[in-house]
Amino acid sequence: MTLTTARVEAPVEALEVAAYTVPTDAPEADGTLSWTETTIVVVHARGGGERGLGYTYADVSTAKLVQSKLAGVVEGRDALEPQAAWAEMVGQIRNLGRPGITSMAIAAVDQALWDLKARLLGLPLCRLLGMAHDRVPLYGSGGFTSYSLSRLQEQLAGWAERGIPRVKMKIGSAPEDDPARVRAAREAIGPGTELFVDANGAYLRKQALALAARFREEAKVSWLEEPVSSDDLEGLRLLRDRGPAGMSIAAGEYGYDLPYFRRMLEAGAVDVLQADVTRCAGITELLRVDGLCRARAIPLSLHCGPQAHLHPGLALHQLVHLEYFHDHVRIEQLLFDGVVMPREGALFPDLERPGIGLELKRTEAERYAA
Ligand SMILES: [Mg+2]
Repeated sequence: MTLTTARVEAPVEALEVAAYTVPTDAPEADGTLSWTETTIVVVHARGGGERGLGYTYADVSTAKLVQSKLAGVVEGRDALEPQAAWAEMVGQIRNLGRPGITSMAIAAVDQALWDLKARLLGLPLCRLLGMAHDRVPLYGSGGFTSYSLSRLQEQLAGWAERGIPRVKMKIGSAPEDDPARVRAAREAIGPGTELFVDANGAYLRKQALALAARFREEAKVSWLEEPVSSDDLEGLRLLRDRGPAGMSIAAGEYGYDLPYFRRMLEAGAVDVLQADVTRCAGITELLRVDGLCRARAIPLSLHCGPQAHLHPGLALHQLVHLEYFHDHVRIEQLLFDGVVMPREGALFPDLERPGIGLELKRTEAERYAA
């Protein structure tokens, strides 16, 4: 057989970056934040006649950072070595600080570089990374605290009816109303669908402990995410150890670098770790987070941006599921061709398409230019 890959030689010629702001279909809120629009920063890495795509849900200033700081670092580098580009980017942002938009900017570029490499080799990205699984199981996620009870019930039941076996709602905006909202959700989805709740850090420790018991008792909730601030590792540990049996404590979506995840695991703060490839500096770092989880036998759940997570998710040994987040599902369908739809409660990769299988719909996207 011929080693075709040995002939691929391509420098990264240019990074192109754009930001789009898409209004939500209704006001959205969780326990600690509310919003009416979402910005996505899209990066293309060009080289060897191909174009790799990566993105992050971040402020428009993240796009500027890609242009002003990262483009010059990555352009001219070997397009087949995304890890080397990653290390150089992380080195060059030393004085800017690693958490926050810096890691989101690196994430978008890193994804674009992995996608470019896969396209140059003519492979789906999941084949390049190696598939530990054939699918990524989903949970439906939305159930915003800004929703009426009927909208909440309709949305959650809709996912259950489409064969997605677990759904998540937001809680914490008005803690006194939460038990009734959670019971209403259980009523809507019936007994056979798992019910997850996410407080986004809105509760105090003992308040969370009391509500956790009620959610389990009254609505068989099996997942309690960020019951207290994800920075309160002792508080998370308290909930994990003293919360009801059958209820997992989860956090990790604000992890921007490997030491953050290591600290969370060392504190025994979570039953399931969460990570977001669009925040944690991309695929290169996400694979390492999987290794941390593997070493501690902790399951790994992926946060939001479902199309960005599908291919890297397939490579993660500790993967349990991916958050099929209403807001991002809508944006990805608006802006990208090649979006895959849920089947059997999971996303399956399209192995006929190279890379992550997505193309930006440029004309559509222009309407939302930020
Ligand atoms: Mg969350």
